[in-house]
Amino acid sequence: MSTPLVIAIDGPSGSGKSSVSRGVATRLGLSYLDTGSMYRAVTWFVQSQGIDLTNVQAIAECARLAEVIPSVDPNNPGISVGTVDVSEPIRSDEVTRAVSIVSAVPEVRTLMVSLQRDIAHQAQVGIVVEGRDIAGVVLPDAAVKIYLTADPQARALRRAAENGANVDATKQQLLSRDKADSTREASPLEKSADSIEVDTTHLSLDEVIDHIVSLAGSNV
Ligand code: C5P
Repeated sequence: MSTPLVIAIDGPSGSGKSSVSRGVATRLGLSYLDTGSMYRAVTWFVQSQGIDLTNVQAIAECARLAEVIPSVDPNNPGISVGTVDVSEPIRSDEVTRAVSIVSAVPEVRTLMVSLQRDIAHQAQVGIVVEGRDIAGVVLPDAAVKIYLTADPQARALRRAAENGANVDATKQQLLSRDKADSTREASPLEKSADSIEVDTTHLSLDEVIDHIVSLAGSNV
């Protein structure tokens, strides 16, 4: 039996990771894991418990109690914490503003990375995993490693079109999240040396998916 195909897709907010990753998984019949939704789910849980976000130890202790259960179906993505479906609340502004603080806590990362590896190793059909540190830290043996980028204006336009928010405010929020994610000590966002960079600024969603499917071609 051949080894299940693992595709790692990293990149900053709004680079098109989620749509591209789901599209590639669907096209190739693979599972799909959105690791950003896992950090958002922990953030939602920490906030729902009234934890002070300046208290790193309290965040770490609280995160240990969060039972994070992501869907791996690209056609039906979602995530629960225990029995609560948090797919919608994790997209709120409140969670978006706090997620970079929670995801920078080393204990939170250790918990999530271990869960992400378990899920990827259990995916017998293969899996597309999207995030910030997948190629470099979570799954360094992934057969295909992609780093998606797009210029900040294009990223802000896409995000604002998705959620109806103001473009300039969205751009400021993206840039400040990029800064927090790429300057933190624990697994900062950066392109791993062996990832292939794909700039999506002037490409359609289908063009990006086609490109990655063809890069994966020799491994299918
Ligand atoms: O991808 P998304 O924008 O939903 O990710 C939310 C946040 O989760 C990011 O801003 C980052 O702080 C964190 N994250 C991370 N490592 C990952 C995926 C997401 O630190 N692999």
